[in-house]
Amino acid sequence: MVVLCYVFAMQIQKAKLIERKNLTENIFELKFSSEKTLNFTPGQFINIKIEDAKNFPCFRAYSISSMIDEKTFELCIKIIPNGRGSNWLKNIELNSEINFLGPYGKLIFKNNNSSHIFIATSVGVAPFKSIIEHELNNNSKNNIELIMGVRFEKDIFYMNEFNSLADSNSNFKFTLTISRPEKLWKGAKGRVNKHIKINKNTQYYVCGSKAVVNDVVRWIKEKGIPEEQINFENFG
Ligand SMILES: Cc1cc2nc3c(=O)[nH]c(=O)nc-3n(C[C@H](O)[C@H](O)[C@H](O)COP(=O)(O)OP(=O)(O)OC[C@H]3O[C@@H](n4cnc5c(N)ncnc54)[C@H](O)[C@@H]3O)c2cc1C
Repeated sequence: MVVLCYVFAMQIQKAKLIERKNLTENIFELKFSSEKTLNFTPGQFINIKIEDAKNFPCFRAYSISSMIDEKTFELCIKIIPNGRGSNWLKNIELNSEINFLGPYGKLIFKNNNSSHIFIATSVGVAPFKSIIEHELNNNSKNNIELIMGVRFEKDIFYMNEFNSLADSNSNFKFTLTISRPEKLWKGAKGRVNKHIKINKNTQYYVCGSKAVVNDVVRWIKEKGIPEEQINFENFG
């Protein structure tokens, strides 16, 4: 037991909040500098210890949304009404420290196909931002497509970042689709499924809320794509 506690304590890492940015009215980005280099594979997440006023701490998972960097990493977080983790993180002070475990996770880039389609709703895009930026920055020759869905125009974030990646990388295509657009919206409309192309030699990656992930994964399977080409993670 003593040994187990020791091992657990050894795994705890610390990072300092150095920047906070609001992306929408209920999504924000946090940038941390880590004590030790965070050795992660793009697509992975960390488990943050939520140290609010409640008498027992809890842990919440957040995907790393930035590329590999020796000193810093970023997260992109949606505020859940009355949610312990998201609201605590929303309010922590600049320069304060968080404790976390990880990185963990298997939603990483699979290099066994040359075509990759990423499908995300809202903050489900966080792990894909890390993967896509990493691949494109390392001159990946793969064809990469990102289909990102949000409900309303006010929920749009990272659009400029992905559009500019698409402008400078001919092998990257970005589609932002809005399920409940205003009349004047000229971009893609409807749910993410509507924009997914089925191609036998493609790796599919799906991330977002449980209901959407289940729905999209089922839809892709029904089109005949084998399980080993479908990678997914749901945020609950
Ligand atoms: C592997 C993994 C990676 C994740 N990465 C991210 C990430 O990058 N960004 C991010 O924002 N979140 C991410 N999440 C979700 C995150 O871990 C928390 O579940 C989320 O922030 C809610 O935690 P909370 O403590 O604020 O809410 P809780 O205190 O856990 O929940 C409060 C109430 O809200 C409900 N609820 C919980 N989650 C949701 C939801 N998504 N939508 C609606 N109602 C909900 C609960 O059922 C409960 O009734 C990830 C989850 C997993 C498993």
